[in-house]
Amino acid sequence: FTIIKANYVATAVNSSQYPAGDLTEIAFIGRSNVGKSSLINSLCRYNGLARTSCTPGKTQTINYFSLTGKLPDESRLEFMLVDLPGYGYAKRAQTARANWSKFIEEYWLTSPRLKLVCQLIDLRHPPMESDCNVYRWLVAHGLTVQVVATKADKISKSHILKHSQEIYKGIDMLNLNPEGRVLPYSIVSGAGRNELLDVIKNILLK
Ligand code: GDP
Repeated sequence: FTIIKANYVATAVNSSQYPAGDLTEIAFIGRSNVGKSSLINSLCRYNGLARTSCTPGKTQTINYFSLTGKLPDESRLEFMLVDLPGYGYAKRAQTARANWSKFIEEYWLTSPRLKLVCQLIDLRHPPMESDCNVYRWLVAHGLTVQVVATKADKISKSHILKHSQEIYKGIDMLNLNPEGRVLPYSIVSGAGRNELLDVIKNILLK
């Protein structure tokens, strides 16, 4: 499954601005600085183009990109990549945090075409409380979650498994979602990219 086209579609701050259409949505979420913009750029890359129109913003907005992927039999699958604002700024005030939750909840609760949430967690450190809370919330709301462990190139190969296990344990995945899997990803080596595209393809073909 290879990406052959990526286009910026829209930016929204509330549900009245969500783009219309019937494309399946795949959302990306994670703590700020986890590597979300980098990963989205790495996924959107096609035909050797390092940068596409996928340039996620840093502000509290929801950004939509339409992506087209090609299957080995040449058929095409189109979907909407949804970039959600990062959570867990250390200094963020209580009210700002409450606003973030309301903002995101409005998206989850009014997006019937949302079929997969990719939650990004930094592979270098054990998950933070906010990672655990978001994961628990997503699973409790019946969403399909793919945990993607970012910056895998910063960990020696022999430690990747150990760090992944810290994530499984930390977010209580074995209890909350026994079928879940942590997928290590690196924008430097490209590790995990084909696997993540496969996960997305399987959701789209379901
Ligand atoms: P965001 O705030 O979640 O959008 O994070 P960014 O995409 O801006 O990434 C934060 C920092 O992590 C940047 O300096 C990136 O270059 C770096 N980064 C992101 N992904 C990777 C990765 O896979 N490997 C390495 N070595 N650095 C990464």
